[in-house]
Amino acid sequence: MSFADLGLSDELLKAVTDSGYTEPTPIQAGAIPSVLMMRDIIGIAQTGTGKTASFVLPMIDILAHGRSRARMPRSLILEPTRELAAQVAENFEKYGVNSHLSMALLIGGVSMGDQLAALEKGVDVLIATPGRLMDLFGRGKIMLNGCSLLVIDEADRMLDMGFIPDIEEICTKLPKQRQTLLFSATMPPPIKKLADKFLTNPKTIEV
Ligand code: AMP
Repeated sequence: MSFADLGLSDELLKAVTDSGYTEPTPIQAGAIPSVLMMRDIIGIAQTGTGKTASFVLPMIDILAHGRSRARMPRSLILEPTRELAAQVAENFEKYGVNSHLSMALLIGGVSMGDQLAALEKGVDVLIATPGRLMDLFGRGKIMLNGCSLLVIDEADRMLDMGFIPDIEEICTKLPKQRQTLLFSATMPPPIKKLADKFLTNPKTIEV
């Protein structure tokens, strides 16, 4: 299987080549075509398997070819830690360099000033840790009702860190008609339950 078989646009294929990747990893080969077909996904994969690109690449294609009327966030990526959120943001910038999409990195431990300025200008993608996202939402600074593509990354770490109630609450603020991608290294019962509740007919890819 080559990257060219996955259904990505030529711009994304160029970004992949520029990154020095020659062939997709198993999670990428399994997930990318289904994400592009707008399916919900459960990806059972650890960090280091190339899972970030398995959701960031198709997300960029979906958003770049969709229409945004009001500049309202159309996609939300939830990460358990600031470091992971920052890494995903770097990936998004690297692969999306020609996409004209904008994003806000919403993490704790830094001042809200830049985050508020980005939100006010309008962004396509939110990359966030649950605590800061809930804080900004509570202050009325974020619209989540346009986020029809949700990624819950590292779900088992979210569980360990006590974020599941926050994630459940965040899910209720998003449109019901949406695409949801859940990634986890393991599938303990509470994560299975979360997936049953918030994903629709997901395709499971285990690597
Ligand atoms: P991740 O599992 O997303 O944290 O990615 C782990 C590392 O693999 C990162 O440094 C990526 O840049 C790299 N990577 C992702 N996809 C590929 C690929 N198809 N070929 C080679 N390296 C990759």
